[in-house]
Amino acid sequence: MAQPAPPVQENPIPPYVEGQAIVTSGGGYCYGGPHPAPGGGWEASQAPHMHNYAPFDLRLFAFKNGCYYFIGDPRDFGYNGQAYSYYGAHPILDAYGGGWCFMIGPHSHWWRPWSPYFTVVGPWYYWYGPYDPFFWAYWPYYSFYYRAYYPSYYAGGRFYSTWRSAPPITRVPSTGWRGSPPAATAATNGWHGTPVNGTSSALRSTGAAPAYRVPATGSGWRPAPVPYAAPRTTPFRAPGSGFRGFRGRH
Ligand SMILES: [Zn+2]
Ligand SMILES: [Zn+2]
Repeated sequence: MAQPAPPVQENPIPPYVEGQAIVTSGGGYCYGGPHPAPGGGWEASQAPHMHNYAPFDLRLFAFKNGCYYFIGDPRDFGYNGQAYSYYGAHPILDAYGGGWCFMIGPHSHWWRPWSPYFTVVGPWYYWYGPYDPFFWAYWPYYSFYYRAYYPSYYAGGRFYSTWRSAPPITRVPSTGWRGSPPAATAATNGWHGTPVNGTSSALRSTGAAPAYRVPATGSGWRPAPVPYAAPRTTPFRAPGSGFRGFRGRH
């Protein structure tokens, strides 16, 4: 099977994240699951449901089957329930919206890791599986978003004091990030954390450990008994084990 070539266009804008949110035929907005509440705090509704307000920032939602699924870090938005600590970008299970989480560095989700391609590195779950063409196409956009906008607008619950959404991105700066895997990007841009040359002790020495820990084992999922590996720099390679964790385009 031929491997797709890396994207050649200049830092494209992803679909569904700029411009107006999509209204359902009934006139409201569909939310696929839990999400930050408009008045502050966390709305935990698990099932798809409707609201008369649009998502506050489409970059933090996956749009799938007409509904918006919150894919950001719930702990930045008032969620205090069970969370799992991740490090860097990773795919998102279809049931939780699909596509990719492009967050850089440590963050959390309320989803338990679902694939053996997540490995435990220090206190984090780290994706060491492949990155597909969708990821590479939009990594420059999202890495810019998560570096330049997310921290000052949303990190640490900031949104609930400012009520300001991050501005649109109409053009992604050309910063040399294109084609770089997350780990290499972090290492070459002076960003804190050194996820390459990985051992868990090296990761812990960055001082970026979150304030909570996740269990290394859980029912139905076990960390893969493989040594830590840096993200692959090769183009997407379909795994042969029936893995269906990522979906290219919506
Ligand atoms: Zn809701
Ligand atoms: Zn994530």
